[in-house]
This record gives sequence, C-alpha cells and structure tokens, in this order.
Amino acid sequence: MVGVFCFRNDLRLHDNLALQQALAVCDQLFLVYAFEDRIWKSKHNQIGFFRAQFLLESLYDIEKGISQVGGSMTYIFGNIEDSIPPFMDEVHADICFLSEENSWNEKKAENSLSQKVHLKTAYDKTLIHLADLPFSLDQLPDSFSKFRKSVETNWNIRSCISSDLTASKITKSRGNLPALRDFGITQKTSPKGYYSFTGGSTAGRKRLHEWFWEKGCISTYKKTRNQLKGADFSSHFSPWIANGSLSPREIYHETKKYEALHGANESTYWLIFELLWRDFFQFFSRLHGRKVFHPCGLNQQKEIDREPDQADLLFFRWVNGCTANLFINANINELNQTGWMSNRGRQNVASYLIHDLGLDWRRGAEWFEKTLIDYDPCSNYGNWLYLAGYCSEKKTVRYFNTTIQSMVYDPKGEYTKDWIDSPVSN
Ligand code: FAD
Repeated sequence: MVGVFCFRNDLRLHDNLALQQALAVCDQLFLVYAFEDRIWKSKHNQIGFFRAQFLLESLYDIEKGISQVGGSMTYIFGNIEDSIPPFMDEVHADICFLSEENSWNEKKAENSLSQKVHLKTAYDKTLIHLADLPFSLDQLPDSFSKFRKSVETNWNIRSCISSDLTASKITKSRGNLPALRDFGITQKTSPKGYYSFTGGSTAGRKRLHEWFWEKGCISTYKKTRNQLKGADFSSHFSPWIANGSLSPREIYHETKKYEALHGANESTYWLIFELLWRDFFQFFSRLHGRKVFHPCGLNQQKEIDREPDQADLLFFRWVNGCTANLFINANINELNQTGWMSNRGRQNVASYLIHDLGLDWRRGAEWFEKTLIDYDPCSNYGNWLYLAGYCSEKKTVRYFNTTIQSMVYDPKGEYTKDWIDSPVSN
C-alpha cells in the first residue's frame, strides 16, 4: 500500500502514534508537510517572524532525522484539504495518515479532507489519552479544578511509542525547505531575550535534559514558576510542545524518572499539574468547538459588550507596548522582540486588555496567535476566554491588578527596565 503521512503539530519522529500506524500499514510512505494558507498566507493574521522561524527550524531538524534513514520530506502548499488530494493523485497514494487536532478549524480541515481521500487519523495530542478519560467528553467538568481532581484519582498515562523509521519504506522526493522570504516574512526587530529558542526535537530534548538533569530546575519549579526574568524559572518547553517536537507524555515519563532518582516534591508534581492545564484546554476546545471563538464563549445568551470609542487606538497602544502602564509595555515588548512571554506576563497583559482597556479579548488572542512561538489554538484561546470569564455559562471575572502584580513580581523594576527603552507618558 502507498501512503502519505502529513505532519501537523506532531513534528517529531519519536513517540508519534499516527506515524507508527502509517509505517505499520504502508509498503511505501511519503512524508509530507503542508504549508497551510490559513497559517502562512492568511491576509487577516499571517504567522509572525519568530513563530515562523521556529517552525522552519523544527522542519529542518525533522528533515535531518529523515535523511539519516535515507528518505526525505516533501513540501506541499495550501490547506491540507486542498493540497493533499492532488498530491495523493500524483504519487498514486491509497491512504493518508494524520494526527488529530482538537481545535475547531483544524477539525474542520480533517473532516473536509476525509470527504476527499481515504483518511486515517490517530489521537495523540494530550498527556491523558482521550479514550482514557474517566468520563465521556460531553461530561467534561466545567472547571479545571474539577477536571484535575477527577482525572488524578486513578489515571493511566500511556508509555511512549518507540520509533521505527524503516529506511526501505520512506520515499525520496523533491523539493527544498522554503525560506521565510518565500512567504514575505521579514525580521522586524533584532533578537533579544533571556533564553534563545531553537526549533526541533533535538533542541527540545537538549532543553529537557539541561533543565531537568544538568540544572535540576524541576526541583524548585513551584517556587520559581511565577517569575518574569531569566531562562530557568519555568521549563520553557511550550514552543516544542505546541508544534509537537516534544510530547507531553515524554515530559511526564522523564519527570517520573527524575522523581525516582531525586525524590518527588511539590515542584515535580507541579509540572504535571501544568500539563493538565494544557489537557483541560485541549478537551475544552474539542468539546465546545466554535463557541471557544465567540466573544462571549459559553455564555452566548449574554449581549456582547460594547468596546470604548477609541478601541482601535487603545489596541494599537497595547500591541506596540505604549500604553500608560510600563509593566504591561515591558511584557508586550518582550513578546514582540522574542516571540515569548512568561505565564505571569500573559495573565497581566490579557487582564489589562480585557478589564482595564475594555477591549474584545479576541483582539489580544489574535495578536498572541500571530506572535507567540508557542501558539496553540486550544491553550491560547482557552486561556484568553478563561481570563475574560466566559469559560462557563456563568461569567467569572478574573482580574489582575497590574500595580500590585508589578510590585509583587517585579519589586525592583528590573524586569520592566530590561524591556523599556524610554519611559512612556500618558
Ligand atoms: P511551564 O510553567 O514550564 O509549564 C509547563 C508546560 O505546561 C508548558 O510548556 C505548557 O505546555 C503547559 N502549561 C503551563 N501553563 C499552562 C496554561 N495556563 N495553559 C495551558 N498550558 C499550560 N501556552 C501555550 O503553550 N500556547 C499558547 O498559545 C498559550 N497562550 C496563552 C495565552 C494566555 C492569555 C495565557 C494566560 C496563557 C497562555 N499559555 C499558552 C499558557 C502558558 O502561559 C504557557 O504555556 C507558559 O507560559 C509556557 O512557559 P513554560 O513552557 O515555561 O511553562
């Protein structure tokens, strides 16, 4: 059987269920990556420089892994539902394999592709497998705490899948990895930052090793995780997890290995706790589909709030780090100049946009979608919706007082100084 395996946000050769299923079934397999228009050519919100660069580095890394077994990657262009069917015709493929996603647009694309070709999908996205949840998806608890308590009582985290990339099955094909300029993406700011990210599983696994084993940072993570400044206060795994270069399962099993040697404590537990937040938003998005993108989320009976008259100007200032609030500006500047921002920073800038400026939360979420190197639709839109208070049918306001926050988390103003070139006035 001739098959096509199309990588999505599962950019790894190890611990990849859909890839292993494809290798088990096919005699000849084309490994493909589709540069989807909805990401790379979107007129509305084209992928930004840092995320795009990280993604190309990830592809380059995976390409190297494939070439080590004598195969190569084929690049195609266009949304999967449009670009895969003609490619399959061209190479006379019988079947296409994909990893499933959880967010609305990605699921729509899977459905549309399945109408056109013989498609086999595999679910492999979360720490806890969808099929191992102790409830059916439509019974997903409406809060993270209830979700966590329910899954933690008796859970089963599956083992990692060993990789078996068989040289004889992988085809050699044409085409080179495109460059950023091919998509009209240019670097606008010079790179700066506390940590320098490189895309791909090789760099992701190096970071995992360094943060766990060389520096032992996981042992103190619970105490440091809310900091703003530095490279090691939190794992910084998110970009690799988001595009699948690292799997949450491998992080879980590495944590267990670490605990066996150095002992478990509240910090080692807390890393898993955070991975459960990610799982919660993945399942939440899968269940609620397009409602996650509605201005009032699950609270659709509510009338949509009117934005202030100067909404466009206020948003322009927020996006460009020139609001009246230096702490907010510093965080936005870090994002714009590196593609990354701490969780504490994200909570503050989001709360400020929603509750202090009175803007539609989706404006901020779209900006994050464009700029974050760890952008993930479920984590991003889920967290924004949560801060806007629309993750359940009853609105729950989550307000961060940015003055108090900056006093607690940046008491000497060192972080703010790092990211503010000149003071901003009202
Ligand atoms: P660590 O603190 O080391 O946590 C380990 C891992 O747990 C992270 O890598 C991530 O995969 C997961 N995680 C931690 N916190 C959360 C959370 N609140 N929600 C979901 N997963 C979590 N994370 C993304 O990966 N992509 C996004 O697009 C994204 N958008 C966000 C938008 C807003 C408004 C907010 C408040 C948070 C967002 N997050 C997002 C969650 C969180 O801020 C980042 O995952 C975290 O800051 C990444 O740093 P880290 O890898 O060092 O995290």
